[in-house]
Amino acid sequence: MTILLSTLNARYAHASLGLRYLLANMGELQAQTKLHEFVIGAKTTEVVERLLAHKPRIVGFGIYIWNVEETTKVIAMLKRVAPEVTVVLGGPEVSHETNEQAAVKLADYVITGWGDITFPQLCAQILNGPKPLMKVHAGQQPPMGEIALPYKFYTIEDIAHRTIYVEASRGCPFKCEFCLSSLDKTAWPFPLDAFLDELEALHARGARLFKFVDRTFNLNVKTSQRIMQFFLDKLAANPGDPVYAHFELVPDHLPEALKETISKFPPGALQFEIGIQSFNPEVQALVSRRQDNAKAADNIRWLCEHSHAHMHVDLIAGLPGEDVASFARGFDKLVGLGAHEIQFGILKRLRGTPIIRHTEPFGMVYDPYPPYTILATNLIDFATMQRLVRFARYWDLVANSGRFTNTIPHLLGAHPFDNFMTFSDWMYTRTDATHRIALDRLANLVKEWLQQRGMAKDEAAALIASDYAGRADSPAEKAKPTAAAPERQLRHLVA
Ligand code: SF4
Repeated sequence: MTILLSTLNARYAHASLGLRYLLANMGELQAQTKLHEFVIGAKTTEVVERLLAHKPRIVGFGIYIWNVEETTKVIAMLKRVAPEVTVVLGGPEVSHETNEQAAVKLADYVITGWGDITFPQLCAQILNGPKPLMKVHAGQQPPMGEIALPYKFYTIEDIAHRTIYVEASRGCPFKCEFCLSSLDKTAWPFPLDAFLDELEALHARGARLFKFVDRTFNLNVKTSQRIMQFFLDKLAANPGDPVYAHFELVPDHLPEALKETISKFPPGALQFEIGIQSFNPEVQALVSRRQDNAKAADNIRWLCEHSHAHMHVDLIAGLPGEDVASFARGFDKLVGLGAHEIQFGILKRLRGTPIIRHTEPFGMVYDPYPPYTILATNLIDFATMQRLVRFARYWDLVANSGRFTNTIPHLLGAHPFDNFMTFSDWMYTRTDATHRIALDRLANLVKEWLQQRGMAKDEAAALIASDYAGRADSPAEKAKPTAAAPERQLRHLVA
């Protein structure tokens, strides 16, 4: 009798932390529980066939915004060919607005919120009775010390080939209305010593690239410092076998003690993801985002100038009350601060988030299908929003990719947003595509654009040639043996 835990990950490299937590907390049922992950794009019949090959009695699916449509098809087929299999759903996508969802209608049970202890309890009832009466079960949140940590369930293959996600805490004390974490009332830390022991064990088994999913890593500075010291110790003890750690920071909270620790990291060992989302105070107030813009800007500038951390900073277009000119000012400001990557996100209406209260007053029109992207607001019409979507895509290809680092300042000039928007519009007219543009073609297009803007042919060619463009003898390739950072970050590092 088997309990299967399954999900469709966005990529093979993304190993599901949520499923491993469930497996770790199965208690007496752990011996009969298995994990089988798939990747988006897999054929529905193959997924169902492989699931049924385990002869499961229960299948638990992790449902997220990126897999809900495909997983719904899998559940529909599974229930047709094997109606005796009990299907249990969990995950953020089915934790809110639960009853109206197609996947929920097809499933037998749903757990909303935390599944760590509620999933095994539900499985025990399904297997041993009495049969659970309710379809939807609110997940219970246990004390953090009672949750079994999942890290031993990363296999050697996971460690070798996939991102190792870890978390020192769950939740967030802030209330940004577009974010699911705004529904948490606070952040809850895991017992630190036990967590550090797990990091040690992962490192001993070969893990070198750690991605922290904590929403606000720098909330408790003492904890942040101890975790960072763990990585500093590893770097000092094994300089020829380095580690790389990714943390998400709140931008306006960087005390001196933390700065001092951060500044000790060598190049290629640290990445920070920092959400700015909007620099417009009125927009911030509308979406209940508390942020000291001056402090945030100072901290980003300090990190860019005084640390070796790779800096990835997020902005969101399409927030209520923000027009293109306001977004452009925020974008230009961020470019001026010197972050390596600016993630130009487009607002999504995540199920359960309070941003829905702005729908009518601000004419917010969202795609009804996942990922529920904003299509228009009272300040940005549909056509303009599509131009912003293309800007985001080309920005990723050209700027964030790190492949055109020397060229980028020439593309952006004194007015980064306006100039890149003009480039983006031209790119779309020229290619009629935002995907599947080969690197050679992209380089030629950038060169052509520079010439159109008045740069001499030889100068444009020399500029493009000076940039990394995927060559085997590139500086990024040469830097690989001394840094554990992913390739994209290495390109920024050596630029
Ligand atoms: S956007 Fe960041 S700070 Fe705001 S609620 Fe979400 S996780 Fe917390």
